[in-house]
Amino acid sequence: MHDAPAFDVAVIGGGVVGLAVARELAMAGREVVVLEAESAIGTHTSSRNSEVIHAGIYYARGSLKAELCVAGKQRLYEYCEREGVPHARLGKLIVATRDDEIPALERILAQAQANGVDDLRWVSAREVHELEPEVVAVRALLSPSTGIIDSHGLMAAFRRDAVAHGAHVVTSTPVLAGRVEAHGFALDLGGLEASTVGCRAVVNASGLRAPSVSRAIAGLDASAIPGEHFAKGHYFVLAGKAPFHRLVYPVPVPGGLGVHVTLDLAGQARFGPDVSWIDGIDYTFDESRAASFYAAIRTYFPALTDGALVPGYTGIRPKLGPAGSAHDFVIQGPEVTGAPGFVGLYGIESPGLTASLAIAERVRALIG
Ligand SMILES: Cc1cc2nc3c(=O)[nH]c(=O)nc-3n(C[C@H](O)[C@H](O)[C@H](O)COP(=O)(O)OP(=O)(O)OC[C@H]3O[C@@H](n4cnc5c(N)ncnc54)[C@H](O)[C@@H]3O)c2cc1C
Repeated sequence: MHDAPAFDVAVIGGGVVGLAVARELAMAGREVVVLEAESAIGTHTSSRNSEVIHAGIYYARGSLKAELCVAGKQRLYEYCEREGVPHARLGKLIVATRDDEIPALERILAQAQANGVDDLRWVSAREVHELEPEVVAVRALLSPSTGIIDSHGLMAAFRRDAVAHGAHVVTSTPVLAGRVEAHGFALDLGGLEASTVGCRAVVNASGLRAPSVSRAIAGLDASAIPGEHFAKGHYFVLAGKAPFHRLVYPVPVPGGLGVHVTLDLAGQARFGPDVSWIDGIDYTFDESRAASFYAAIRTYFPALTDGALVPGYTGIRPKLGPAGSAHDFVIQGPEVTGAPGFVGLYGIESPGLTASLAIAERVRALIG
């Protein structure tokens, strides 16, 4: 029993979302501790993604993904400019490689406009060639507000702000279990020195593991906790200098955005991610996927030479249902979780990096 909890707010998980939440709450005057299982912050999804600042184009109107991406993009650009986080507003082309893909681009344009993204414009085949000489397309959409960001630089900045406002970020400290108690929560911590801490409020930002972490906390409404599923994506890196100036996406495929080109801030091009459903968290790279990458990429980048793709890395999307199901971000406040002071964040896949500052504001409003 913890009549006088040691902490005000415990944030479980030190990825980009947990750190954004810790920053937001600490700057609002809350006393925050971030509990991170790994020996460093941001070693899971937050460092295994495309590092794209998404415009907010594809998501269903009125969804949290649409709302928080559009709001988060704006805040993120302002934050990066103010705080010197490396980023670049490169823009992106979404390309139709056949005439029968143009209706898909029309739907994407309509979706973007419904989401308040009103800066997309049509680009002809000739202009695509002028903008990106290596890319072949019959027509394209240009999204000027899409960009790239250094995700590690962003997390370091969030952590610095949080710590400057009194937060503690503790690594190698997994939350193993917990309980809802009379004045808050007790969390059982593993790591070198196993212990139990008390806190008034908890934000579960443990990413891929968020559903099972909530399930291990007795006293929460178990019926509200979603399922835990994983969809892996592989990235191949293009050897040599990138022949692209901006991001290039094909029309989306079921379950993902298609094998697209992103650039990192060093100018290296990478292709991915693909989609494969897996049973557990396993970042093993399956090199046999190269054949399907060559085929998909050559539809819009025909000059891709054999042997130019080098295995890069993988990332895993935190899915809430099995293959074929679609889910929005799930952000549950106390009225849903069944425990005053408990906020659960589930299914924070793409565009979670872009939306991180907007998610953090939402959490602050919910936690009270
Ligand atoms: C392939 C891929 C590409 C993506 N591309 C983009 C993109 O281009 N743009 C974009 O905006 N978004 C993108 N995203 C989404 C974005 O990466 C995620 O939304 C974001 O990183 C999620 O951050 P998080 O903090 O919720 O999760 P994580 O980064 O996974 O952090 C969760 C943390 O919780 C910790 N943890 C887990 N269990 C426990 C426990 N029991 N106790 C303590 N700590 C625990 C983990 O160690 C981890 O550090 C992509 C995602 C994927 C998978």
